[in-house]
Amino acid sequence: MRIVAFVLAVSALSPWLGLSVSTTKSVSALPAQSIEGGAVTTDVEDSDLFFQNAIRAAGPARDYSQKIDAVLRRMTLEEKVGQMTQLAIGMIAKGRDQEIQVDQAKLEKAIVRYGVGSILNVAEQALTVDKWHEIINQIQSTATKKTRLGIPVIYGIDSIHGANYVQGATLFPQEIGMAATWNPELMKRGSEIAAMETRAAGIPWSFSPVLDIGRQPLWPRFYETFGEDPYLAKVMGVAFVRGMEGSDVGSQDHVATSLKHYMGYSFSFNGRDRTPAWIPENYLREYFLPTFDAAVKAGAHTVMVNSAEINGIPGHVNHHILTDILRDELGFKGFVVSDWEDIKKLVTVWHVAGNEKEATRMAVMAGIDMSMVPLDYSFADYLIALVKEGAVPQSRVDEAVRRILRVKFELGLFDNPMPNGALKSKIGLPESRQASLQAARESMTLLKNTNDLLPLAKGRKILVTGPTADSLISLNNGWTYVWQGSEESLYPKDRPTIRRAIEAKTGAANVTYVPGTKITRRPGSPSNGTPTNLESEVDIPAAVRAAGAADVVVLCLGEGSYTETPGDIPDLNLGEPQRKLAEAIEATGKPVVLVLVEGRPRIVNRIADNASAVLMAYNPGNEGGQAVADVLFGDFNPCGKLPFTYPRFPNGLMTYDHKAFETEGFDNAGIRPQFEFGAGLSYTTFSYKDLLLNRKTIGSSEQLSVNVTVTNSGQRAGKEVVQLYLSDLVASLSPAGKRLKRFAKIYLEPGQSRTLTFKLRSDDLSFIGADNKSVVEPGVFEVSIAGLKDRFELK
Ligand code: BGC
Repeated sequence: MRIVAFVLAVSALSPWLGLSVSTTKSVSALPAQSIEGGAVTTDVEDSDLFFQNAIRAAGPARDYSQKIDAVLRRMTLEEKVGQMTQLAIGMIAKGRDQEIQVDQAKLEKAIVRYGVGSILNVAEQALTVDKWHEIINQIQSTATKKTRLGIPVIYGIDSIHGANYVQGATLFPQEIGMAATWNPELMKRGSEIAAMETRAAGIPWSFSPVLDIGRQPLWPRFYETFGEDPYLAKVMGVAFVRGMEGSDVGSQDHVATSLKHYMGYSFSFNGRDRTPAWIPENYLREYFLPTFDAAVKAGAHTVMVNSAEINGIPGHVNHHILTDILRDELGFKGFVVSDWEDIKKLVTVWHVAGNEKEATRMAVMAGIDMSMVPLDYSFADYLIALVKEGAVPQSRVDEAVRRILRVKFELGLFDNPMPNGALKSKIGLPESRQASLQAARESMTLLKNTNDLLPLAKGRKILVTGPTADSLISLNNGWTYVWQGSEESLYPKDRPTIRRAIEAKTGAANVTYVPGTKITRRPGSPSNGTPTNLESEVDIPAAVRAAGAADVVVLCLGEGSYTETPGDIPDLNLGEPQRKLAEAIEATGKPVVLVLVEGRPRIVNRIADNASAVLMAYNPGNEGGQAVADVLFGDFNPCGKLPFTYPRFPNGLMTYDHKAFETEGFDNAGIRPQFEFGAGLSYTTFSYKDLLLNRKTIGSSEQLSVNVTVTNSGQRAGKEVVQLYLSDLVASLSPAGKRLKRFAKIYLEPGQSRTLTFKLRSDDLSFIGADNKSVVEPGVFEVSIAGLKDRFELK
C-alpha cells in the first residue's frame, strides 16, 4: 500500500491575472481571467484541514466578567429588560428611503426611557455610508451620553450576500452560489469583505450566515442556504463565520455573526415559509444541527431562532433546542435573538399562548435573550411585569443581559461606539469586486455540454433571450438594496447583465436580444397560491424569428427576486410563458445554451433535455453577468458543482444521500434527478486513479488515510472538486446510500497530476442513533471518489 504525504497549501487569493476586455458604453467589466494565462489558485486541498484551522483561528475569549458584573450591579430591572429589547429603525426615525432621519424624541423614548439595547434594519432601502454614520452617531451619542449607564446600542443588519444594505458595497453570490464554488477560502474572503463594509458603515452585527439546510427546494429561502448537504454547509458556514468575525471581532474590520435560523426552519413540509416541519430528533441532529454546532465552535457570537415550528413546538418556545442543546451541549456563550415579531406570533400564528404576556414568559424561559419585538414596547412592559410577579426569575433576566453585555464588550462598543470615518473608503474597493467576480465565476456550474458546444467562438451570431438575460435583479435575488431585491433603480448602472456582458465579449453587432417573456412583481404576499412573481409573454414570435438568423441561442430562464414568504410558490415548474418560449426556441433546431438564473431548482426537464448546453448560474450577484459570459466564451474554465440534487419532476424530490431503497429490481425512475448533487463539467477532463486506503481494518481510535491521484487529462488548465463519499454498509438505523465526508478544490495544468490524502476519523463514521446519540458501529464501510471504490472494516 502506498502512502503519499503532501503538504497542505491554503494559499491566499492570488493577484488578479488577466486580459482586459472591451465594454459597451454604459457597463464596465473587470479584466477577464485567462485560464491559459495562469491560474487563480485559491485551493483548498483538504476540507477537513480548512475546517479545523478555521475553528482554531477563533480568537481567545477575553474575560469581561468583572466589567459586566460592575455594569449589571448598577442596572435597574427596567434597564435590564431594555437591553433585551430590539426595535426596528422606524421606531426611532421618521421619513423613508434616503429621506430617513433619526427623530430625537422617538430615539429618547427608546433609548433613555426604555433603555433599548438594540436597533435593526433599514427603512425600506440601502443607505449611503454617510447616512449610516449620521444615524449610528446619533443613536450612540444618545445611548452613551444621555442614559444613566451609557451602555452602547448594538445595531444589527442583514448582510446576507455582502453588505447589501450599504450603498456601493460589494455584493457576492447568494449562499447557494457560494456553496457551488466548493471553495471555503472564497467564502471566507467574501465574508471578510462583507464584514469590513458592514463595519465601515458603523454597524457591528450581521444577521448571517443562514445555516439552514436546503433539503426542500420549494422553500423560498433555499438560495440563502449552502444547499442540501450538512458537511458542505458546515465547512462553508465555518468559513463564513471566520471571515466575518475574524480572530478579533472587536477589530474595525469585523462584525458579530448571527447563526440562523436555529433550527429546522428550512424543512417545512409544504415548502412554504414559516410553516410546520416534522423532524424526529435523531434526524434533526443528523442533518440540521451540525452546521450550528460547528459555527458555535468557531466562536459565533449570536444565534437567531427558527420562526416556524418543528414537531408542533414553535422555535421560540423550544427549551430543549434553545437551552438543553444550544447551551448545555454545544456550550454556546453568546446571546439568542428572536426573529421578527416571533413572540407575538406565539399568540397570533402558533396559538401556543393565549396572550402576549404569556408568550413573553414562555419565550424568555425557553432561552430567548433578546426579542426582535420590533414595532412596539410590549415586550419590555410584559417582561417587567412578569419579573415583578415572580413568573420570570430575576436570575434569568440577569443571565440574558450578561450575554448581551458580553457581546457588546467583545465588539469593542464600550470603548468605541461611534462609526469610524476613516473606514468609509473601504466600501466597494476594486479588489473586493474582483473577489466577488472570482466567487461568481467559481460558482458557475456547467451541467451539460453536448458536442462541446461551449465555449462559444467569438464572432458567432448569438440570440440572447429569456426573462433573466437582461436583469441584475435576477442575478442578485432578494436581500439586495431592499428586502425583496426588487427596486431596479437602486442597482448599479455599471454592472453588466448577462446580455451586456455577452455583447462586450463578442461585439454588440453579433448579438440580438429579444426578451421573449418577462417577470413582473405583484405587490404584497402571495395569496391563494398566486406567486409574487408573475410571468408573461412579451414577444415569443420575435424571439423565434431572431433564432432563425442566429448560430446559437443563449436562453436565460429562471426567476425574479423574492425574499421569505413573498417567495412562496405552489409549483416548482417554471411558469407557462417561459416553457412556451423555450419550446418555441428549441423547435427552431438551433443549438441552445440554457442559462439558469434562479434561487431554487425550477423544473426544466424537457427544456434541459433539448438544450445542447446547460449552465447553472444560481444568483451570482452583481458580477454574475460577466461571470456567465466568461464561462460561455471560455475565458474562465467552469469549476462549480451543484450543492443540491436538481429534481426532474416537481414531485420527484430527493436528496443525494437518500437511502439505498432500490427494491426488486425496480430502479425508481420517477425520482432520477435532472442533475446529481456534486455534478459540474469543465472544459478539460480529469481522470482519477489509485484510490488507496492505508489499511483495510481500523480500530475506533485510529485514522484511515485515503489517497487518490487526480490528473488533468484534457487540454486546458482548470480546477476540480474532488469529493469523498462514505457508505456505511450495515447499521442499526437504515443507512444513507452515501454521505459526503471530505472534498478538495485543486488547480491542475494540462497533464498535471496531484495525489491527495484525506484522513478519516471515527466521528466521520458516526451517525445519530435511535436514542438521539452519536454512535459508531463496527462494520464494513465503502469509500468512493469519482467512481473509484474501496472498502475497509471498523473493528
Ligand atoms: C428574517 C430574518 C431576518 C430578520 C431581520 C426576518 O423576517 O426571517 O432572517 O434576519 O427578518 O430582517
